Amino acid sequence: MQQARRSASGSHHDLSVQDRSDALRNDVERLFAADLPVALYLDIDGTLLDVALTPSTVRIPPILPHLLDALSQRLSGAVAIITGRPLKEADELLHPARFVAAGVHGAQMRISSDGAIESLAPSLDQALQDDIRKIVIDLPGIVFEDKGNGIALHYRLAPEQHTALMMMLEKLVMKYPEQFTIFGGRKVVEVLPVGFSKGRALRTLASMPPFANRTPVMIGDDIADIAAFNAAEELGGFGLKVAGEHFSHEEASFHGPADVLEWLQKLSRVKD
Ligand SMILES: [Mg+2]
Repeated sequence: MQQARRSASGSHHDLSVQDRSDALRNDVERLFAADLPVALYLDIDGTLLDVALTPSTVRIPPILPHLLDALSQRLSGAVAIITGRPLKEADELLHPARFVAAGVHGAQMRISSDGAIESLAPSLDQALQDDIRKIVIDLPGIVFEDKGNGIALHYRLAPEQHTALMMMLEKLVMKYPEQFTIFGGRKVVEVLPVGFSKGRALRTLASMPPFANRTPVMIGDDIADIAAFNAAEELGGFGLKVAGEHFSHEEASFHGPADVLEWLQKLSRVKD
């Protein structure tokens, strides 16, 4: 494993930040060119799709489902979606294509593309959910999203409420100890059952066919994706960042979702 790690992302320590992110992308291209076994793990929002004002108003590039299907065929099915969205929603976005996937940051999982969505985490305590709803009523502009296993609080429409929102959530952490974790993303605060992350989801998928024994490549744009980047690198693979509201263009391997799609298209040899 150590050897694999050095041969992947660990080998570019001497490069500048920008050169390193370009080198990682080139390394993955070489794996594809040599037809070596790769497994792709893809975030959705901000990675495959431009971020919208609210999660329900995203625009889907018409080519996307077909493109991912073509990639999946090329990689013997080793394409997985790892998203903060509930999987039902992810399926609707990528319809008619369907993939192995982890949703709500790993609290939901589907381990075969035609299998059922499994809930790995209990729902959040009802009293906690009610308290969070009360917070949202007090803070106009915050959009409450019930994800089944978790809650997302979007403040893109009311960024000035972020500090107050965090303070109120911190108080709930004390009221409901050990029951949930909070973490930030792109203009969103996620409330999740403890113990789940995109990193844990990647590791789980990477241990089973058709993902096992393939070099993992995670592509993502947000703070929550860092755990999955780390997991991929520890397994001898790559974490490729997409520039946007979290990663700068300098540290990212992609300028944005359009750049990611163009690159995936090249890898899948899909013609328009
Ligand atoms: Mg994202």
